[in-house]
Amino acid sequence: MPKKHTDVLIIGAGLAGSLLAWRLLQTGQKIQLIHHPSITSASRVAAGLINPVTGQRLVLQKNIDQLLASAHQLYRQLGEEFNQPFFFKKTMLRTLQSKKDQAAWKKRQRDPRYQSYLSNMEPSQCEGQQTVIQQHQTGYLDTNTLLNSLHRYFQQKQSMHSLVFDSHDLQIHHDHIVWQEIRASQLILCQGWRGMHCNFFSYLPFQPAKGEILTLSTSDILPKHIIHQGKWLLPLNHKAFKLGATYQHQNIDEKPSEAGKQELLKALISMGMAQKNITLKQHQAGIRPNTLDKQPFLGMHPKYPSIGIFNGFGSKGSLLIPWYAQRMAQYLEHQTPLPSHADIQRFSCA
Ligand SMILES: Cc1cc2nc3c(=O)[nH]c(=O)nc-3n(C[C@H](O)[C@H](O)[C@H](O)COP(=O)(O)OP(=O)(O)OC[C@H]3O[C@@H](n4cnc5c(N)ncnc54)[C@H](O)[C@@H]3O)c2cc1C
Repeated sequence: MPKKHTDVLIIGAGLAGSLLAWRLLQTGQKIQLIHHPSITSASRVAAGLINPVTGQRLVLQKNIDQLLASAHQLYRQLGEEFNQPFFFKKTMLRTLQSKKDQAAWKKRQRDPRYQSYLSNMEPSQCEGQQTVIQQHQTGYLDTNTLLNSLHRYFQQKQSMHSLVFDSHDLQIHHDHIVWQEIRASQLILCQGWRGMHCNFFSYLPFQPAKGEILTLSTSDILPKHIIHQGKWLLPLNHKAFKLGATYQHQNIDEKPSEAGKQELLKALISMGMAQKNITLKQHQAGIRPNTLDKQPFLGMHPKYPSIGIFNGFGSKGSLLIPWYAQRMAQYLEHQTPLPSHADIQRFSCA
């Protein structure tokens, strides 16, 4: 007999599972959250950058106003709840490196939608001959500190457990599931890239991408802003900074590699940082839960209506998850339709 009855059982306590759990608790739902520290989480590797305009073509994220408002509101609320800031605003200076970059910038300068996100640098601040532009409404989420706070909170409520989920142990009934000692009306899988191996949702087109990132310290003076020159440098305090990230679709694993490290350190030279004054503190690797159509995966399984997924936030979890977690919570509680671009009904399950 199951001992714990809950509304929603969530598997995975990265940013997706943890922020969904928080949203559900806020609306009075009962949750149980399962993760295992031995199963790595991309959220623990991520730099947490929020950047509304990305890629060589300088593309503005769709629905950016809603996404940013939701992220700022949630991270502010969590900051007040746990009495410490988690999100830090920081302007980004971006060097336009290719002809493609330059052409995109010419076009974007005439587009009013971009005005609050991109601007020219004063010529005196530009680096040599290269064009440098400013990106606004950028910053970073301290994902590790946030997850530590949230996990302590869930543990105090006896809502979080360190267990490995295996779907073979699952009993599926028409209006609930039972897993180990937990009976839940709904089961939501938030397993990051490992979701692609879960037998319920392996039909969804995941496109995982490995990334590596370095945490370094320096005796040099660090720039005040985030620097973006293909690779980015994120100054954390007067001595430490993060440098990232590599991007790899083939032969992916979660191991930091020498090649990844060298690729990142090489980028430092073009950023004008002397390598001799630098100490490597940490070298991490993780796998981003990217999707083929670049949209998240939200919704319930077509054959098992009490089993759902909340996943596929790719390289933009810090920006996307707050708004989608709200939509997912409303869907689970009130059946409010999901945004069609993110609803997994767009794919057929054979
Ligand atoms: C190098 C790198 C840099 C990045 N930089 C940024 C950035 O600057 N900005 C940004 O927004 N995003 C960035 N990302 C992407 C970001 O990490 C993801 O969008 C986000 O963290 C995904 O969160 P998630 O909760 O879906 O997955 P994850 O964080 O991977 O969480 C998955 C969870 O599922 C659990 N789990 C899986 N299987 C099981 C099981 N069988 N049993 C129990 N638990 C299980 C894991 O333990 C974990 O808790 C980066 C990613 C990488 C790799």
